[in-house]
This record gives sequence, C-alpha cells and structure tokens, in this order.
Amino acid sequence: MKITRLRIRRLTGTLTTDGPMWEDRLVRPIDIYPEHRRDPWRQGGQQIDERHFRVTQDFLDIETDAGITGRAGPLWPDAARLVLTQLAHLLIGQDPTATELLWDQMHRFQVHGRQGDAMIALSSVDCALWDIRGQAFGQPIWRLLGGPTREAVPAYASMLGYAVEDMGRVRDRALAFKAQGYTAQKWFFRHGPMSGHEGLHRNVALVRTLRETLGEDYDIMLDCWQSMNFDYAVRLCERIEEFRPRWLEEPFMPDRIDTHAKLKAKTRIPLSGAEHEYTRWGFRRFVDAGALDILQPDIYWCGGLSETLKIAALATAHDLIVIPHGHSTPIGIHFTVAQSPIHTPYQEYLVKWNDINMHFLAHPLRPVNGMLGLPAAAGANMALDPAKIEQESEVMV
Ligand SMILES: [Mg+2]
Repeated sequence: MKITRLRIRRLTGTLTTDGPMWEDRLVRPIDIYPEHRRDPWRQGGQQIDERHFRVTQDFLDIETDAGITGRAGPLWPDAARLVLTQLAHLLIGQDPTATELLWDQMHRFQVHGRQGDAMIALSSVDCALWDIRGQAFGQPIWRLLGGPTREAVPAYASMLGYAVEDMGRVRDRALAFKAQGYTAQKWFFRHGPMSGHEGLHRNVALVRTLRETLGEDYDIMLDCWQSMNFDYAVRLCERIEEFRPRWLEEPFMPDRIDTHAKLKAKTRIPLSGAEHEYTRWGFRRFVDAGALDILQPDIYWCGGLSETLKIAALATAHDLIVIPHGHSTPIGIHFTVAQSPIHTPYQEYLVKWNDINMHFLAHPLRPVNGMLGLPAAAGANMALDPAKIEQESEVMV
C-alpha cells in the first residue's frame, strides 16, 4: 500500500447550543496584563446567537492506492498548512503502515519544528496513519496496541467553559454532571497572581463549593492553565489542601520545570501537567526532575499516538500516571484502553471541546453513565456526517 495524496478539507457547520457555548473562560498566562485580563474567549468557532455556534474546522485526509483513507482532525489552520508545505512530500509514495519510519523522517526533516504548530502537524499525520493501519488490518486501533485492558473507561468531566464565578451555577452544574454518572470533575480557575486577594478568595471559593457540593467521595481536579507563579501557587495550595483535590494541573508554563519541582516539595496535592509539552525528550525533563505526578500529553500535539506511547512507557517506568489531555476522544480512547488501569485510571472528557471537535463525526464517542466504551469500528472511527457539513472547500497552498 502506498500513500497517494494528502488533502485538507475545510468544513463549516453549526452547533445548536443551550445558551452561549462559552459562559466563562480560564485564567491565561497573559492575564497578568490588565488589558488582556478583560479579553473575551473566542475559541473553536463563533457564537451567532444564543442557540447557535458556527464552526469551521480542517480535517486531514491521507489517501492510499488501496482505497483506504486515514483521517485526523480537527487541526487548526496554521498546522494544517504545515502538513501540506512541510510533510506531504515526505509521505507521498510511502507505505502508510510504516509509522515509525515516517515519524522519524518527519521529525528529522523539520529541524526547526520540535514543538508548536510543526509538531501538531506531525501529530495529525501520525494519527491519520494509525487510522489507515487500523483499517488495513480491519481492527480498531486499541486492538493493534494490545488492548483492551478493560471493557470501559471512567471519563472525568472537564468543565472548561462553564460559569465559575456564580457559585449557584457551579453547584447546579456539578450536581448535574454527578447525576450523569461522572465520578470525577475538573474545573478551571479564572484568576491568577495579578488578581490579588479578591481573585485568590474566588479561586478558593470555587474549590470549597465543589467539595461541599460533590461530597467526600468524589475526585475533584483543578486546572491553572500555566498561569500561576510560585508564590501564588504555594498560597493557593495552602488554602485548598483541606479540600483534597485529586490533582492541581499545569500551575506554571512548561519550561519552568524547576518551579514545578519546588512546588511539589511544598504541597501534598499531586501535580499534573505538560499538556503543552512535546515529544519523549520534552517529557523526559519532567520525569528526570520528578516535577509531576501525572503526565498529560496531548495526542494531537505531543507527536501523535506513536509518541504518546513512548512517553507513557518512559513515565510508567517511573510509576507516574499518564492521562492524555482530552479534547480528542476518538483517538484518546485507543490509547487509554491499551494502558494499565493503574497508570491510566481516567480519560479526560472536555465536555464543550468534544462537542465542538466531534461535531462533524458520524459516530462521536460520548460517555454513557460516565464511562467511555470501546469503539468497534476498524481504525479510528473518523467517518464524517455529510448532514453536518454546510460548506466544504479544500485548502490549497
Ligand atoms: Mg489542562
């Protein structure tokens, strides 16, 4: 089998929403500047009215002479463009099941592309190649990886985009998702170091509300999205330790590895992170420094499924937990159910991002009673639903 063509399909469609898609946003590193602290959150699409959210997304199709097409996405336009300009020429005419060879060639060719959009482009290609490999063998990817290690996986509800300032709404949402069967929830802080005592009190109030609402026997995670500094993180941890978070996520920007390690020495709260880190060599820095308890590679960013497996092998040799960042359930499930349950106890399910990212899929994988089941289809199950596509064009470079 040979690769014959790479195509980027740009699809537009409309989600029906129950109110605005994004009610609130998370704190960001740039929020230390007052002019940015007030920025609205415009991610993933455009709110047309109270009930409609318009999305335009790029999907990568890798076509073969065997009639099999591998698909990955959505990926953002800058990365999609790099697939065509930097990687396509390395792939045409090659055997798509030779994922190790193609990964190594793509990595060695992109000498400036160890991180960021270039690595995201490579990751998307890798995921599409795994889709081809699964279809070629007539099996879901998890079976090619040696799974399943269980019949279903607990998903944790990741609550990005829900209101976090009104504790009544937090309480209602937390209870609603608990009632749906989720045994764990992650919420996102809205305030960082430059929001002063008032912001700190609000962050603490969020955690207190969650613990009081969800009860003693419930996993609660908190995400800082790289936005704290050491002093602030220590004070935050001191105040929320009594509420026993399952973990505190991404307290600092990922190059501040020493700062992660310093915080870990100061708090009993387990630390997670590195969704914005790339490749086994990037993750090795966290592992060697003992800086994190839980690693969260993003399969679509860190180097693809091939690289996530290597990161997991490295991490689990140190008895670390690996729970990939969770906006791409269709590929994430194949990784998760091929890992030991003790090392990958949960799969993240970013509720709103998965609504957006699976909008065009014919068979979106959603948790049922808080559990993600095993997809049975061969490959990554990335068939598109033509009824959802209002406009389509091909990206040309
Ligand atoms: Mg996160």
